[in-house]
Amino acid sequence: MPVKNALYVVATPIGNLNDISLRALEVLASVDVVAAEHVQNSKYLLSHHAIHTRMIALHQHNEAAVAHQVSAFLAQGKSAALISDAGTPAISDPGAVLVRQVREQGFPVIPVPGANAAICALSAAGIISPHFLFYGFLPAKTGQRQQALKTLAALPYTLVFYEAPHRIQASLHDMAAVLGGERQLTIARELTKLFETIHQCRLDEAIAWLEADAHRKKGEFVILVSGAPAPDSTEISEQTRNTLTLLLAELPLKQAVKLAAGISGENKKALYQLALSLKS
Ligand code: SAM
Repeated sequence: MPVKNALYVVATPIGNLNDISLRALEVLASVDVVAAEHVQNSKYLLSHHAIHTRMIALHQHNEAAVAHQVSAFLAQGKSAALISDAGTPAISDPGAVLVRQVREQGFPVIPVPGANAAICALSAAGIISPHFLFYGFLPAKTGQRQQALKTLAALPYTLVFYEAPHRIQASLHDMAAVLGGERQLTIARELTKLFETIHQCRLDEAIAWLEADAHRKKGEFVILVSGAPAPDSTEISEQTRNTLTLLLAELPLKQAVKLAAGISGENKKALYQLALSLKS
């Protein structure tokens, strides 16, 4: 029996319908109502598992209204589940508004973990570096996309993006232009589905790979890009390191780097990288 007054946040498959936990199936079968991003899409999944729980639609433009409806259910001692079209709700998907409202009203929110496209791609990519930054979808317009990429360019973490087929080529082009073509790229396409592809190459080789076969541009994509290369610390003198360390203790990172560069005359980009590693 589900917990009364509780909202369960339930992960569903990202392709293969069997990628759903036993607990998720139990919860979806026993709650009073399931709030789903697209009722029709989720009906297919639930009926595949012989589940016929009442469903209501929750998408980006009605999320606040549905949040009120769900809260009213919970106030009556009923239980509800939230699912999205695929993967984990509220991760590049609607759900956060509902979850926040339910939490603010003091009702329990219970996560039921499962598939997520970003983690699925990372798990199969063999990237040794332990840190990553999940960005999700970049802006659709080139100018804004390049601007967003610039804010990520100095970060020493693997960058994780979601991308749609009609923008994959333009996004990979902008990534190479802004982040640098020598970075390591993983294209994880159609994960857990029939045409699952995990391809690794340099960022500046991506467009040629995509164009070699029209099918490669189709489907859903997770893109992993290696982080900014470690600064060449041999370039930075011991004295400048000490100066930067002292400044970082007192000032915001950007200001400390600017001052250290001004004092030492050393490369600002290398100092920025060093500052990031000193901070972490
Ligand atoms: N909530 C989902 C999750 O937990 O991963 C993400 C939903 S977001 C609206 C959809 C995007 O996730 C797609 O455009 C694609 O970038 C990525 N994605 C979802 N399923 C995928 C799959 N099977 N293979 C590769 N990428 C996928």
